[in-house]
Amino acid sequence: MTMDRRSLLKGVAAAGAGAAVTALPLEASTPKPEIPPDAFGMLYDATLCIGCRACVTACKEANAMPGNLYNPPEDLSGDTKNIIKVWHRDQPDQSYMKAQCMHCLDPACVRACMIGSFQKREFGIVTWDPTKCIGCRYCQVACPFAIPKFQWEKAMPKIVKCELCNHRINDSTGKPMPACCEVCPKEAVIAGDYRDLLAEAQRRIDEHPERYYPAGAPKIYGAEDGGGTQVLYLAGVDFENLGLPDLGTEPAGISAAAIQHTIYKGFVAPVALYGILGAVMWRNRRSGKEEE
Ligand code: SF4
Ligand code: SF4
Ligand code: SF4
Repeated sequence: MTMDRRSLLKGVAAAGAGAAVTALPLEASTPKPEIPPDAFGMLYDATLCIGCRACVTACKEANAMPGNLYNPPEDLSGDTKNIIKVWHRDQPDQSYMKAQCMHCLDPACVRACMIGSFQKREFGIVTWDPTKCIGCRYCQVACPFAIPKFQWEKAMPKIVKCELCNHRINDSTGKPMPACCEVCPKEAVIAGDYRDLLAEAQRRIDEHPERYYPAGAPKIYGAEDGGGTQVLYLAGVDFENLGLPDLGTEPAGISAAAIQHTIYKGFVAPVALYGILGAVMWRNRRSGKEEE
């Protein structure tokens, strides 16, 4: 059984009448995240990207979001799930950068979302459920890549982020069809099974080691960073220049658990409310597991 936003808010209102509820204990540490057996993802190779932004337009079309090539968005926003940026424009070491959700193996947004609106689902895709979200935006605080965006200007705002086009399933393979990957003219961004993408990234490095960063020991960003991400990157420049932070190999979810602890520590008065929210989150997650 799952609980929708209306039932949740009713429950919270009832709780506000005065029940004293103790918040559920939070996990203190995270084991190394497992790769889902059917993990699907993307590989972006910045050395092949020509900055045409066909992927940005395709993403907007596939997700029915406003905007087009003649008015390219400058950053991720409430109506942009995918962006191409330029680092060091017109310099010898210029590089493009494609940004969208990384579909982390241990997603900080999932851990931070008290209600279970963010979930890691089939194919390891990290999704957001509008029927559960209460708009607290802890997911925005928790994400180490600053991906989730909020529709501030809308009367009924949503959280917006790439869901790996999980609404576009290929009938014959049963796998998602990311629109950005379908249109890329250079195979700079490709989609596929996570393990195949790792192998393809390594093949590209072996074929042209001189192209990739760091010199001498090229790296696949996302293979281990932040515990691993299902979107992988190859680049010719330092990943940090492209906005990909040095997270070490610790799962990114640990930082979200720390954020939860910090937030709850500061809130003494609404402990009953947060206890109820925590209980609902636990219940939603448990029922999700039972459904699986
Ligand atoms: S933590 Fe950020 S990048 Fe990772 S899955 Fe969540 S929204 Fe995407
Ligand atoms: S997978 Fe779909 S939603 Fe995600 S960036 Fe590509 S086109 Fe946009
Ligand atoms: S469509 Fe491909 S080449 Fe064009 S900007 Fe996007 S990733 Fe780069």
